Amino acid sequence: MSTYFSQAKAVMPGGVSSPVRAYGSVGGTPVFVKSASGAYVTDVDGQEYLDLVGSWGPALLGHAHLEVVERVREAASRGLSFGAPTVGETELAELIIARIGGVEKVRFTSTGTEATMTAIRLARGFTSREVIIKFAGCYHGHSDALLAEAGSGVATAGLPGSAGVTAGAASDTIVLPYNDLEKVREVFETRGPEIAAIITEAAAANMGVVAPGAGFNRGLSEIAHSHGALLIQDEVLTGFRVSDAGWWGLEGRVEGWTPDLYCFGKVAGGGMPLAALGGRAEIMDHLAPLGPVYQAGTLSGNPLAVAAGKATLSLADGAVYYHIDSLADQLAEITTGALNAAGVPHRLQRAGSLMSVFFGEQPAAAPITNYGEAQRQDTALFTQFFHSMLDQHVLLPPSAFEAWFLSAAHGPAELDRLSEAIKKAARF
Ligand SMILES: *Cc1c(COP(=O)(O)O)cnc(C)c1O
Repeated sequence: MSTYFSQAKAVMPGGVSSPVRAYGSVGGTPVFVKSASGAYVTDVDGQEYLDLVGSWGPALLGHAHLEVVERVREAASRGLSFGAPTVGETELAELIIARIGGVEKVRFTSTGTEATMTAIRLARGFTSREVIIKFAGCYHGHSDALLAEAGSGVATAGLPGSAGVTAGAASDTIVLPYNDLEKVREVFETRGPEIAAIITEAAAANMGVVAPGAGFNRGLSEIAHSHGALLIQDEVLTGFRVSDAGWWGLEGRVEGWTPDLYCFGKVAGGGMPLAALGGRAEIMDHLAPLGPVYQAGTLSGNPLAVAAGKATLSLADGAVYYHIDSLADQLAEITTGALNAAGVPHRLQRAGSLMSVFFGEQPAAAPITNYGEAQRQDTALFTQFFHSMLDQHVLLPPSAFEAWFLSAAHGPAELDRLSEAIKKAARF
């Protein structure tokens, strides 16, 4: 047991700055990272690990990509923060607008939590309504109104929601099962005039990977619009990861529709604290200073974060997404192949290049479509699998409810190593 963890626990709750990092659901001691490069992280004792966490998504190009780091270094040499507008923010907004349909204006924040929280406030301010619909198992950050049945971190911690969230804050949030349009229609029939917005993960990846059924997102958009409400598509995790235009690029772009507001984060900041919300000017202009919906941030649009975001998006071209998609196909095949060969009951689910494995008889029997079903997986089997991988120096996200993340820096050598490790880990 490393002394780093016990020292950390003495001065920080659980020894961490964000709960899932504490290995609470899988047990054991978290790896304390000293550095990372490409597909690998190195711990404080100099041990190297093959990484499938990718900083929980941002590391699309791999860790410490030379050009991204160089752009950040240059930005840092010009000053760390000004509290004044910079040209870089305009350029990053332009990059986002060029990729995502239905985005005319962008507001930068530091975290995904702020982006979703602001999107909710904006939807309420724009519609003059109060009620929000979210889906069980979808995570939208840790703001009060959105913590109800919020998936991974909360599921991992075994908390019902969170202490400290008032009944008032939660009572304006209606939680429905994911992938069930009928329930959404029913709620709109009775409470339609009160509902400001539906917020949904573009593809759910915080209850394990649970892609929306065909037509689910478009159906949400149609139902919301027929009742004067907005659809907020949370692409903090999927945005600029599953395609050049995120999940919208795989779905709305093909089907010819757009949500009203999007939230971005993770890849958009290239590993630095940056997130954003975006949408039509008509809605976005309700934000201060133009409109009555207040939102602000001392470090919002921070020049180092903007530099990392700009460099990452500029480098994330078609070849990067093609590479990661093809790796994901191969890794999925390797994983199901090894688990099947070892007779381990499981189901691997995909959403673009994102994937996760649900262990156990119940998931093996039928696809997981919502949070209730996701909770019937055998987390003890995952824990064993996780620790075997960790012993072989492969870092998986330390929870059965999280997606595995590949990067442009992963390649054939990493797949070979993963294949060996997974074969061993599959022999429970
Ligand atoms: C990570 C995440 C958030 C929260 O972003 P933070 O930067 O951690 O606050 C919101 N929504 C989704 C879908 C996420 O995956």
